[in-house]
Amino acid sequence: MIKVKEVTKKYGSFIAVRNLNFEIKQGEIVGLLGPNGAGKSTTMNMITGFIEPTEGEISVNGVDICKNPKKAKRQIGYMPENVPLYTDLTPKEFISYMAELKMVPRSQRKAQVEKLIRETGLEEVQNKLIRNLSRGYKQRVSLAGALAGNPKVLILDEPTVGLDPKQITEIRNLIRNLGKEHTIIISSHILSEISQICEKVIIINQGEIVAIDTIENIENRVSKKNCLLVTVEEKEKSLGDLKGKIQGIEEIELVKEREDGSKQYQITYQEGKDLRKQLLENLAKQGINLLEMKNAQVTLEDAFMELIQEKEYKEKQKGGEN
Ligand code: ADP
Ligand code: MG
Repeated sequence: MIKVKEVTKKYGSFIAVRNLNFEIKQGEIVGLLGPNGAGKSTTMNMITGFIEPTEGEISVNGVDICKNPKKAKRQIGYMPENVPLYTDLTPKEFISYMAELKMVPRSQRKAQVEKLIRETGLEEVQNKLIRNLSRGYKQRVSLAGALAGNPKVLILDEPTVGLDPKQITEIRNLIRNLGKEHTIIISSHILSEISQICEKVIIINQGEIVAIDTIENIENRVSKKNCLLVTVEEKEKSLGDLKGKIQGIEEIELVKEREDGSKQYQITYQEGKDLRKQLLENLAKQGINLLEMKNAQVTLEDAFMELIQEKEYKEKQKGGEN
């Protein structure tokens, strides 16, 4: 449905994205995940035909976006970042305008606008000025605009940014429902956000794809590590020598040191072991006071670090073969 082939985008001499290659099949909901500045919006802007790639080709449903932009664009609904809506229009006017742009025949327009207003829950505010609406409603107006003309493909750039938890849940449910009939690309810088909507993710960092995989595989790849964060009150004694005393510990690393003498360590241990009991006993024996012990959360940063390291490792191996 969407083919991105050897796509590079430069702004002047700055390379924003480099040699992107991926395909998205009809009906898939794919997450584009990466930190700020990774190149998500640039990639989406190229797929929607807003900007042209410096190199490479992009086709949507077999239509080349550069050679035949009008035809390709008609198949795409785009919800850009920062929702630049026409704030002096009402939602109803804005959605009608989008339907007109998407060449919805005049005879069908009214019914389609009403349907979109219903589907995105905008009935109550449909005749208010957009500029007076809350952020959550603005996002919905933007989404409704993207849906005008019933495009096969939806491109949603960070659709939940700036929303409160309740609004996030609502938008997420809306998108999940849309996934039944549309091919969707949705970007985010939050792993958990993507994992609740998408089955597949493309992870991008500094303009390059680091991984393309299912959410399940990615989460397995990064969360297999067993890791505890342990804060102790410790002045002279050190946790470092625990490694020799408890079997299974792989690494002990000092993470934080506070002025009051407490220290936080990250303890990594072999998969399948639970060292908490042994750890407690050992600390007690040494007279070290335990202030806190918790499982370390896998963050997006961890995921990136690991995936990037995997990638570099593979590339080194490849380089070695030649
Ligand atoms: P993301 O959406 O992942 O946060 P962007 O695609 O917006 O990332 O940006 C990727 C990189 O390209 C960033 O370093 C950004 O500063 C740069 N960039 C984006 N747009 C422009 C532009 N119009 N001119 C110059 N640099 C840009
Ligand atoms: Mg962006």
